[in-house]
This record gives sequence, C-alpha cells and structure tokens, in this order.
Amino acid sequence: MEYLRTRVMLVGLIFALLTPFWAFMDWLLLPSRPTDFLFVRLFGFAGLLACVWLALQGHQRIRLVYVLSGLVFMLPASFYAYMLLSSDSAGHYVVLGYGFIPFLLVATLSIFPFTLLESAVVGGALIGLQILASIRADTWMTAKGMQDLWLLIALLVVALTANYFHLGLLLRLYRQATHDALTGLMNRGALNQQLTQRIWEDGLHVLMIDLDHFKQINDTHGHSVGDDVLARAAGLFKAHLEPQDLAARYGGEEFTLILAGRTDEQALELARQLLGKVQAQVLHNHDRQPFQITASIGLAACAAGQDAEKALRLADMRLYQAKRGGRNQIVATG
Ligand code: GH3
Ligand code: MG
Ligand code: MG
Repeated sequence: MEYLRTRVMLVGLIFALLTPFWAFMDWLLLPSRPTDFLFVRLFGFAGLLACVWLALQGHQRIRLVYVLSGLVFMLPASFYAYMLLSSDSAGHYVVLGYGFIPFLLVATLSIFPFTLLESAVVGGALIGLQILASIRADTWMTAKGMQDLWLLIALLVVALTANYFHLGLLLRLYRQATHDALTGLMNRGALNQQLTQRIWEDGLHVLMIDLDHFKQINDTHGHSVGDDVLARAAGLFKAHLEPQDLAARYGGEEFTLILAGRTDEQALELARQLLGKVQAQVLHNHDRQPFQITASIGLAACAAGQDAEKALRLADMRLYQAKRGGRNQIVATG
C-alpha cells in the first residue's frame, strides 16, 4: 500500500508540474487562446495537486489510495478527451503534441503495482481515447492512425507484462519481509506494525508463549527436529485463532498471539487450551522416538485506545514470571 501511495504522490506531482509548462507552451504557440481550456487545465492541475495532498495524508487508507491512483490517470485522460471533443481546436491540439498523453499514461501504468485486470481496464480506456483522437485528427483507418494505435497496443502489452512481474515480485518480497520462513507466521516487525497501526476497536489480549527447555531439544535431537517442533507449535497456535487475531514468531522459540475482542476469561481459557495442546502433542525424533514439550505463557489485556506495546511488555514480564514459577504454566496477573 505504501508502495502504491508513493507512486500516486510522485506521478501526481510530475503530471501537476507539467501542466503549467504545457499551458505556457500553448500560450506561446497557439494562434487563438481559448479560455475554457485554461479552466479545464486549472481544474486538472488542482485535481492532481489534491491527489498528491490526499495521498500524503492517506497513510493506511487503502481505498482512498486506490481511488487516487485511478484519478492520477483519469485527470490527464479527461483533459485530453475534453480537448478532442471541444469542436473547433481539437486539430490544433493534436498537432501541438497532446497526442502523447495516451502513450505517456500507458507507459506510466507499468510503474504502478496494479493487477492485470486493473491495468487492462485502464489500458482499454486509453485505447478508446486513442481511437477518438485518431477520428478527430482524421487519421482513423489511415496508415498513420493504425500505426499509432498499434504502437499504443504494443506499449500496453509491455506495461501489462511489467505489471504482472512487478506485482508478483512485490508480493513475494512483502511476504519475505513480513513473515518467518520456518513457521510461516508474521515476524516481529510486522507484528509491531499491526499492533500499533491497526485500530483495535474491542481491545486485545497479548499472549507471549515460550517453549520450555527448547535448547535441550536441539541438543538432544538435533536442530532439524527443533525446527520441526517450532513449525508444529506454530501450526497449533494458528489453528486456534480467529481470522481477526494475529500470530507471530517473536524470535527463536518465542511466539506472540494477539487476540481481538475477547473477554479476560475467554483469553485465559484459550491460553489454558493451548498449554494443554502443546503438552499433549506427541512429537518424534529422527529415530521415531516419541517426546513431548511444554510451554510457558504470559497473558496481558489491553483495552481499546490503550497502549498495546505496554501490554506486550507486561505479557513478556509475566512470561518470565511463569518461567521462574517452574514453567508449563500461565501467568495472567501481577
Ligand atoms: P527456557 O525454558 O528458559 O525458555 O529455556 P530454553 O532452552 O527454551 O531457552 P534458551 O533461550 O536457553 O534457548 C532457546 C534455544 O532456541 C536456543 C536456540 O538455539 C534455539 N533456537 C532459536 N531459534 C531456533 C530455530 O530457528 N531453530 C532451532 N532448531 N532452534 C532455535
Ligand atoms: Mg524457551
Ligand atoms: Mg526464549
């Protein structure tokens, strides 16, 4: 989302800055200076600046950023369409070099991380615009008109291909940057971001879970068995969560679960369940020998609007109390 937002700001700003420059060129070159074009241009300029400003404020507002990214394309395209359709001077404008707008917009498409469908919709509209330009300039169904159209279509295919790889790469990078490869859970950075930036309307509970004597498992059975234990524990935690909850690998053999909208009793009950399931799980080493593990849990609540990071620190403190208290237990108070 941040990636899309920076592109809206950058492209919006470039297009906005180009507007007065082109207005000046028109003023120099056009024999007649129609005032309505000036208004349309002013409107486009203000619209683009508004997009940049809103994108600047639109941190974490996914819908808004999507709408703005569409507007960054629509404003120059509408400006061009208006010029083409306003009867008298359309020819002048096409000759003066505004014919580059559909090409510029198709090329710009490739730097936005749109899906293939989104890009195809924008691209289709731009092809329509190019056909309109061709009709207005009397080049439709002529060699020149068809050449321009084919060039635009070829550019669109390149832009769609770039989008496809771009978005795929971005999603893969995002996943790698925010998730732990071994367990598939969120990593600590992603958890902290969610914890502080998401609005937890009904409050939350934090569970800090640490596997007991995990070093011994590594020392006794080897690191690959240790890895397997971590992955199984992560799977178990995840299986007990609701879609609105979060599960993260906080580090090593420590996990953090964030429960959304539970009462204190419900959160404690879930912690008890997890402790029981971890203990009941029968694991096997490479010689097929069974072994079991236990975990310690620190639990803390955070009411809506309160400092979630403070609750995280409290849960961590309670986890250490659980360790000191003999492990395989939950500490939820004190
Ligand atoms: P305690 O009950 O006090 O938590 O003892 P512990 O042995 O679980 O804790 P300690 O912090 O002494 O050791 C944690 C171990 O976890 C040490 C480290 O080698 C191991 N570990 C951390 N990350 C991984 C991992 O990704 N894979 C494996 N196999 N082991 C890991
Ligand atoms: Mg441990
Ligand atoms: Mg630990």
